[in-house]
Amino acid sequence: MKTAPISEELFQRAKNFIPGGVNSPVRAFRAVGGNPRFIKSAKGAYLFDEDGNRYMEFINSWGPMILGHAAEIVQEAVMQAIPNSLSFGAPTRKEIEIAELIISMVPSIEKVRMVNSGTEATMSAIRVARGYTGRDKMIKFEGCYHGHGDSFLIAAGSGAITLGVPDSPGVTKGVANDTLTAPYNNLQAVQTLVDANKGQVAAIILEPVAGNMGLVLPTQEFLQGLRDLCTKEGIVLIFDEVMTGFRLAPGGAQQLFGVTPDMTTLGKIIGGGMPVGAYGGKKEIMDCVAPAGPVYQAGTLSGNPIAMSAGMAMLNYLKDNPQVYTQLDETTERMITGMSNNMQQLGLNYMINKVGSMFTIFFTDQHVTDFDSAKTSNTALFGRYFNEMLQRGIYLAPSQYESLFVSTAITPELVDEYVQANYEALKAIQG
Ligand code: PLP
Repeated sequence: MKTAPISEELFQRAKNFIPGGVNSPVRAFRAVGGNPRFIKSAKGAYLFDEDGNRYMEFINSWGPMILGHAAEIVQEAVMQAIPNSLSFGAPTRKEIEIAELIISMVPSIEKVRMVNSGTEATMSAIRVARGYTGRDKMIKFEGCYHGHGDSFLIAAGSGAITLGVPDSPGVTKGVANDTLTAPYNNLQAVQTLVDANKGQVAAIILEPVAGNMGLVLPTQEFLQGLRDLCTKEGIVLIFDEVMTGFRLAPGGAQQLFGVTPDMTTLGKIIGGGMPVGAYGGKKEIMDCVAPAGPVYQAGTLSGNPIAMSAGMAMLNYLKDNPQVYTQLDETTERMITGMSNNMQQLGLNYMINKVGSMFTIFFTDQHVTDFDSAKTSNTALFGRYFNEMLQRGIYLAPSQYESLFVSTAITPELVDEYVQANYEALKAIQG
């Protein structure tokens, strides 16, 4: 039994000073019951909490830690950069080097601008798409999450749906009116929206593999159909690869599926655990950004030298070691096979979606292809499963509507441990 009295005490204290006791909503465990663990340190596959408990983990800082925690190559790059000062607010050689690196890896990017988070990346990309096309509206997909910018908090996934606020209060009607939504994987619905708003849609933005309603895969026809429609209608196609960038392949989902958007947003892995985001795309579009063009976007700490050093180390490693992706895929496949065998033994039929090192087990027997089918999941059952796994030392995302991330720190022995815990947890929550 893993008790956590110190974490509990810290949570009570945190709630006095921080809204809900956390600096990002899903960390609070509201959807699964219980109190969050307060983390003291992490190494490789493990998190260690303030109570001295150890957890094998599959959140990996919600994606960035693809090499596991405290990866030496990233740590060393940061250590080397620190003595030169933490920030200059003036250009550096490293910013050119990371731009060149990103452009060499991500098919759609010819020019790139660094920012400090995925949210900043998507907010900026939409502004640029609007400036470039002179149009106001955008289309997003139900259950996709693109950070907490106002115009994205319509039918939003991730923490917004977990906490029951997919359309957040505080977003004005004016802003909401410019966001049109369609079901994921439904090309016909997008065509209908475009036809009804002829010449007014600046951008279509999507997670090319959705990770924020749980993991939902696109069909090839859906991605290609969006590409063709955008080309025909002069709409900017934006792939939000904050989650999938550098995770599903060195060039992200666009490389995996062979569909190239006009713009791409990045975050998470690109900073190796530091607060970094980026947006980029065709030269013609990116040259609209100030000071090259009139669309304003700026940042005091953008291109921060420490963050760039961490990101460069991470990206260089992934570029030079493409076998990482095969290894991650094999590890994840073994986990999925183990879970499927467990379910067969227990007579259960929950759905598992998987691509590369991302997966979600949905507590439903329906195939999950969009937000509506994701919502057929039994979230109460998921909450019980989450806590059973936590008790067995496995730390999962505390929401049904998230993808899990596998890191290279997960060894075959750890896969076996995970599969055993999965069997026991599934068994425990039956009946
Ligand atoms: N876009 C996607 C696809 C994401 O998954 C996220 C965060 O989870 C964001 C954007 C927002 O990024 P950040 O939390 O760094 O602002």
